[in-house]
Amino acid sequence: HRSEVEGRTPVFYEEALGAAADRRQKLRKALAQAIPAGELHLVWQPLFDTRRYRMIGAEALLRWRCGAVSREVMPAELFPLATEMGMLAEIDFWVLWEALATKRRWAGKPGAPPTVAINISGATLRDPGFPAQVSKALEQHGVAAEELDIEIPEDIPARDIQAMAQNLEALRSMGVRLSLDDFGGGVSAMAHLVQLPVQRVKLDRSITHRLPEGKRETAVLGAVATLANSLGIELVAEGVEKEVQASALRAEGCFIMQGWLYGRPLAADLLVPPGG
Ligand code: C2E
Ligand code: MG
Ligand code: MG
Ligand code: MG
Repeated sequence: HRSEVEGRTPVFYEEALGAAADRRQKLRKALAQAIPAGELHLVWQPLFDTRRYRMIGAEALLRWRCGAVSREVMPAELFPLATEMGMLAEIDFWVLWEALATKRRWAGKPGAPPTVAINISGATLRDPGFPAQVSKALEQHGVAAEELDIEIPEDIPARDIQAMAQNLEALRSMGVRLSLDDFGGGVSAMAHLVQLPVQRVKLDRSITHRLPEGKRETAVLGAVATLANSLGIELVAEGVEKEVQASALRAEGCFIMQGWLYGRPLAADLLVPPGG
C-alpha cells in the first residue's frame, strides 16, 4: 500500500498550489492598478565601450514596487501576468514615455548616457500604430530619434517577422536605433539577424556566462561576431560578470559590454545625479 510520504504529498502539493494561486490573484489585482498607483519604475544599466572606456548608452529595465505584496516584482514574474491580463501594450507605452522623459531630464548633465534603450514586446512591435506613437513620444519630449534604441525580443514567431519588418523599417527611416536582444538564448536568432534591419545585436547572458570554457558558447560567439562584422552590425555582450568573460569577448572583437562587471541597473538619479 501507499507509503506515508506518498499519502501526504498531495496535501502539501495542494496547499502549495493554493498559496501560489492566492499570490497570483493578489498580484493580478494589484497589477491592474500599478500604473495609476505610480508603482512602476525604471532602473538603468550602462552599455560600456571598453575600447574608449565610455558609457555609450543605458538600458531601461522595468521594476514594479508592489504595495500589495510589499516588495519589488521583477520582469520574470511581471511579464507573464501582464501578458495574461492583456496589459503589454499599456506597459510598453508607459516605458516609452517614462524613458524619454528621463532622457529629457538628463539632457546636458555630465555623465548622461548618449542613448537610451527600451525593451518592447513583440505584440507592440507588430502594432501598425506603433511607429507613429514613437514619433509622437519623441516629439513631445524633445528627444532625437537617434537617441532612442529599441530592443527587439528574440522570441518572435517566424510568421510575425514580415509584419514586424514593415514597422521596423518605418522606425529605421525615422532614425530610431534597433537592437536584436538575447541572441543565442533562443532558437531562430540567426534568421532574425539576417532579416531584420537592426544596428546592434546583443549576445544573451546564457552564452556570456559560459565563456571561456563552454565550447558551444565559444562557437556561437565566433559565429555571431563574424556575421555581425560582415553585416556591419554592432555586437554587444550582456551579463558580463567576470574579467575572463570580457577577455574572451574582446578576443572575438566584441568590445561593447553590459553586465555587473561594468555596472548594475541603477535608479535614474543614481546613474545621473540631478543638478549639475
Ligand atoms: P534583457 O533585456 O535581456 O535584460 C537584461 C537582464 O539581465 C536584466 O534582467 C538585467 O538586470 C540582467 N543583468 C544585467 N547584467 C547582468 C549580469 O551581469 N548578471 C546577471 N545575472 N544578470 C544581469 P531583468 O531586469 O530581470 O529583466 C529581464 C528581462 O525582462 C529583460 O531581459 C527583458 O527581456 C524583460 N524586460 C525588462 N524590462 C522590460 C520592459 O520595460 N519592457 C519589456 N517588454 N520587457 C522588459
Ligand atoms: Mg534588453
Ligand atoms: Mg537582453
Ligand atoms: Mg538576455
